[in-house]
Amino acid sequence: MNLILLGPPGAGKGTQAKRIVEKYGIPQISTGDMFREAVAKGTELGKKAKEYMDRGELVPDEIVIGIVRERLSQPDCEKGFILDGFPRTIKQAEALDEMLDDMGKKIDAVINIVVPDEEILKRIVYRRVCKECGAVYNLIYSPPKQDGICDKCGGELYQRDDDKEETVKERLRVYKEQTEPLINYYSQKEVIYNIDGTKDIEEVWKQIESVLEKIRS
Ligand SMILES: [Zn+2]
Repeated sequence: MNLILLGPPGAGKGTQAKRIVEKYGIPQISTGDMFREAVAKGTELGKKAKEYMDRGELVPDEIVIGIVRERLSQPDCEKGFILDGFPRTIKQAEALDEMLDDMGKKIDAVINIVVPDEEILKRIVYRRVCKECGAVYNLIYSPPKQDGICDKCGGELYQRDDDKEETVKERLRVYKEQTEPLINYYSQKEVIYNIDGTKDIEEVWKQIESVLEKIRS
């Protein structure tokens, strides 16, 4: 079962990916992890990628694609995989199709977790984190008992820079810009499944599970 997971920041992708991994025994392959692994192992492509990363530059497509190919060729991907953070462009999506074709494989489903911007903003912008113990609160969904103070340790709560409204809006804008063409690309191939990500974790999981059971049979 070869899957791609799409969803904006704050859509709960991580939680759902973990459940897919647990239930179906296929690895989650995130671009960040894959890069770190290739760099740590000192593969030829890993070394090249590191040069770009050290300079703070984007790693070129051909290197990214090469690293993905290395990763997907490993034995734990035989039963399938969940790609997270790749592909990001049509060019990468086409390259992925080509390499899977070479391997006699294909993408079975693109799981697209859909959450409206306003909901994402509520989830992230109202997030507060304890300076002392790292406990996470949300002023709307899970507020602390006392304003600005951690229930667990009495530490001070603060808003991470990444969670500020302007930053989140920019990340959502970039996400849309990158993802919309991909959604069109996979819609044409009729492998896209839209999941209502506004529901709670269990409900979202049920939707994903029913898609996966359908494509597995
Ligand atoms: Zn605390």
